[in-house]
Amino acid sequence: MNDCYDVTIIGAGPAGLFSAFYAGLRQMKTKIIDNHSTLGGKLHVYPEKMIWDVGGITPILGEDLMLQLTEQAQTFDPTIILEKTVTKIEQSENQTFKITTNAGEIHLSKTVILAVGGGILSPKKIGFSKEEHFEKTNLHYTVDKLANFRDKTVLISGGGKSAVDWANTLEPIAKKVIMTYRKGELTGHEAEIQRLINSSAEIIYHTEIKDVEGDDYIERAIIHQVETDERFHLEVDEVIINHGYDRDNDLYEQSPLEFMMHEQHGLAGSAYGDISVPGIFAAGDSLNYNGKLHLIAGAFQDAANAVNRAKQWVEPDADKVAMVSSHNALLKEKNKPLFEQLSKQ
Ligand SMILES: Cc1cc2nc3c(=O)[nH]c(=O)nc-3n(C[C@H](O)[C@H](O)[C@H](O)COP(=O)(O)OP(=O)(O)OC[C@H]3O[C@@H](n4cnc5c(N)ncnc54)[C@H](O)[C@@H]3O)c2cc1C
Repeated sequence: MNDCYDVTIIGAGPAGLFSAFYAGLRQMKTKIIDNHSTLGGKLHVYPEKMIWDVGGITPILGEDLMLQLTEQAQTFDPTIILEKTVTKIEQSENQTFKITTNAGEIHLSKTVILAVGGGILSPKKIGFSKEEHFEKTNLHYTVDKLANFRDKTVLISGGGKSAVDWANTLEPIAKKVIMTYRKGELTGHEAEIQRLINSSAEIIYHTEIKDVEGDDYIERAIIHQVETDERFHLEVDEVIINHGYDRDNDLYEQSPLEFMMHEQHGLAGSAYGDISVPGIFAAGDSLNYNGKLHLIAGAFQDAANAVNRAKQWVEPDADKVAMVSSHNALLKEKNKPLFEQLSKQ
């Protein structure tokens, strides 16, 4: 356990997984740690949602992208530690980082890449009576299985990007999609909002869900009309609450190192992945800088940059960037039969 690694990546979402691949490409001894039982990060929140905006990849389900990223991340056999939350990072006198998990394990590393997204996330809840009970039946915070919503009346509470995405995804398969939103205008991608407005979904603005009622299952929701202060009931089969997430950023707060936070959210840093602690780099949603793209595509660029910086930290004479992958000796060796076949054509 206490071998010192060149780089330890914390978080196994798109940024962490691509960092693991890229670190292998740069011949770094690599470890990746995530608190979940499987790799994939936030993609677990939307396995059955179609992703359209990753360059070079035609529409792909969240689950399939997760599998491809996982396979790619394992190309160079990094050490993978799952179901462990990193609680503290310290630096010893010889500059090595000491990474502690909630299980009390200690991992040593010359550099660290923070790819923790928004930290440990838990969905914001409303505090319904019988909330825990209904969470086992038809109260949801995300959509795991589209089939569960087929031919149902689905009530979505929220009006941000995720709520709009889910409403559009469910509208063709549900019997009816109803959205309740406190404000008078949805937010998100213009085209997605327009698509929703032009669909059969019913959007009830200036309303909020107050409580839900039923025995084993939610049968009706109590809706509050904010402007008139009136209340009414809606008969529903499934309820999705989409009010964002509470973030647990204990990792930054408990570490003796001084992590400088961005004024909006995430770690303040540069597009190269440098943050306020030398030797620790960041990638993906956990990093913020001018021009940052908070999307999967942005996470990939951050990952390559952070790994290149980590490589130089470990070996100051190393090239600043890796060669294009087709010139990479390790990949050529791994894919020898393919290269031999291509050279014969
Ligand atoms: C509903 C929804 C739909 C989306 N749709 C799209 C889309 O269509 N296209 C697109 O480009 N983007 C989309 N996104 C955004 C995209 O998912 C994120 O930009 C992307 O996942 C960020 O990747 P990441 O690796 O930085 O972080 P994450 O995917 O959040 O992964 C971070 C990982 O680190 C783990 N972690 C955090 N703290 C610790 C710790 N202390 N110890 C151990 N592990 C830790 C987390 O649990 C998580 O597994 C969507 C997001 C949501 C919520």
